[in-house]
Amino acid sequence: MFLSIAVDGPVGAGKSTVCDAVCAKLNILHLDTGAMYRAVGLAALDAGIDPRDEKAVVDMLEKGRVRVDVRYADGRQTTLLNGVAVDQRIRTQEVGSAASAVSRYPAVRRAMVARQRELAREQPMLLDGRDIGTVVLPDASVKIFLTSSAEVRAKRRLSQLQESGQSASYDEILREVRQRDAQDENRETDPLRKAEDAVVVDSTHLTFDETVDTILRLIEAIKA
Ligand code: C5P
Repeated sequence: MFLSIAVDGPVGAGKSTVCDAVCAKLNILHLDTGAMYRAVGLAALDAGIDPRDEKAVVDMLEKGRVRVDVRYADGRQTTLLNGVAVDQRIRTQEVGSAASAVSRYPAVRRAMVARQRELAREQPMLLDGRDIGTVVLPDASVKIFLTSSAEVRAKRRLSQLQESGQSASYDEILREVRQRDAQDENRETDPLRKAEDAVVVDSTHLTFDETVDTILRLIEAIKA
């Protein structure tokens, strides 16, 4: 059994960047599972399919018109849609909303979860998402639930978008964060919730480095 670390939490909790730093320190691979759902959302948008149309999205997936996979080069994840890297294209608000819609469908989740489990079986890994500790890796060596207040998450999201040259308003982002929390927590299939045996890390009052250190200490404690 390889070391497997499950990190779950709501949108904008800083999972991706925090987990990247944790993995760099531990020298293990990081699988950002949200990127896979984003790729499915992007595929729907590219095909002119409304992401809220479950039948059309599942049809697209089942007819083999969508292949989502990940590759690693120098330890960094590249997310592939039908063999093409989509790392930049999946980072827009529109694709985020599409991902949130398509990730509600059981057929989409089954396909993504199966691939995520395969990857985690092949090597030591940290997976981040919404259902890692509860569904994807219920036997993970370490489970962490990383969260912070909706306001702090909206502020971080706004800075990220501004840094990548996209314009957005704080109020709009806060509304979007709350809406996505509600969608992720209330969906029928694999909703976002803390696994019973997960440790909560609330980063509302922590700096980035403090959050990374807290997680590293938790992992060290469990490995020891
Ligand atoms: O984490 P990120 O915001 O990139 O995820 C995009 C969307 O994919 C989320 O809003 C969430 O609905 C969905 N997701 C999921 N299960 C995961 C990871 C992400 O449902 N394991």
